[in-house]
Amino acid sequence: MNQSSQPKILIVDDTPANIRILGDALHVEHEIIIATNGAEALRIAQTERPDIILLDIIMPGMDGYEVCRHLKETPLTKNIPVIFITAKDEEEDEVKGLSLGAVDYISKPFSLPIVRMRVRNYLEMKRDRDMLESISMLDWLTGIANRRRFDEFMEIEWRSCARNSSPLSLIMIDIDYFKLYNDSHGHVMGDECLKKVARELNHSLRRPNDIVCRYGGEEFAAVMPETDTAGAVYVAEMMHRNIAGLDLKHASSPLVDRVTISIGLASVLPTPGETPAVLIKAADRALYEAKGQGRNRTQLAFSEAPAAR
Ligand code: GH3
Ligand code: MG
Ligand code: MG
Repeated sequence: MNQSSQPKILIVDDTPANIRILGDALHVEHEIIIATNGAEALRIAQTERPDIILLDIIMPGMDGYEVCRHLKETPLTKNIPVIFITAKDEEEDEVKGLSLGAVDYISKPFSLPIVRMRVRNYLEMKRDRDMLESISMLDWLTGIANRRRFDEFMEIEWRSCARNSSPLSLIMIDIDYFKLYNDSHGHVMGDECLKKVARELNHSLRRPNDIVCRYGGEEFAAVMPETDTAGAVYVAEMMHRNIAGLDLKHASSPLVDRVTISIGLASVLPTPGETPAVLIKAADRALYEAKGQGRNRTQLAFSEAPAAR
């Protein structure tokens, strides 16, 4: 659901009078946006992300069926419920509309109170679904993004950075001697430690488009679109500093008596022909090297020299 308090309805119709009738009936509790042809509808659906779309079928150029097909094929718009509102009232028209993935099909002349109730019900369904979707992307323990969100985000940002020829950076973070931490402080404290570390790592990120996720047990990953090596090194340093600032006692660490992290860092210019796996592998290898070289440090991939620290 949108951030604004009112759900957003996109009304698509080539006849302004039809838009007015529906708009008048729905504008009190909803934000109304309109499109008067198929191409415009697709563009607005992508940029505005409405919560529901009321879609006419007969329009010059791209018809409503075609619009629906595109909407359902596009990841960004495929979960937006579509209701056809149309003068076409043959059984086969309705079957076609529903088979394209529309949730409902309303023939003209329609009853405005019924349209209003159906819209309300589908919006409720969409809100529940959005909530489940966002919960399914969160790590249950730490509340930050989980591995599923990481995979999805990486895919999207890889393509976006490839399109814009901008660098993509990945930082892999692993808590040092965490098994020993659990052994000496217990699992409950171990879980608390993971929560605190997750929060500090999250605070270390600067841009709204950066995310940090729990990658595995005591391993985290930060993805930073449009960020080069220098920018990522800065964030990695911030992470070391913020974890040190937590000042969490680690009674059995062979290093120091506080919780520390090791970091593997990789930046690349993504290309459409490759996949994020290259970047993940590189950062993972760098993390492994950071461990081998003594832990509590950052190691850069694609470079012999360890980063400062
Ligand atoms: P290294 O410095 O090489 O990373 O050593 P390590 O002990 O941190 O690494 P290892 O991978 O051997 O151990 C990771 C430990 O993390 C094992 C497991 O007990 C602990 N762990 C993983 N997930 C959780 C969790 O959800 N809660 C708690 N309390 N511990 C966890
Ligand atoms: Mg570890
Ligand atoms: Mg580990």
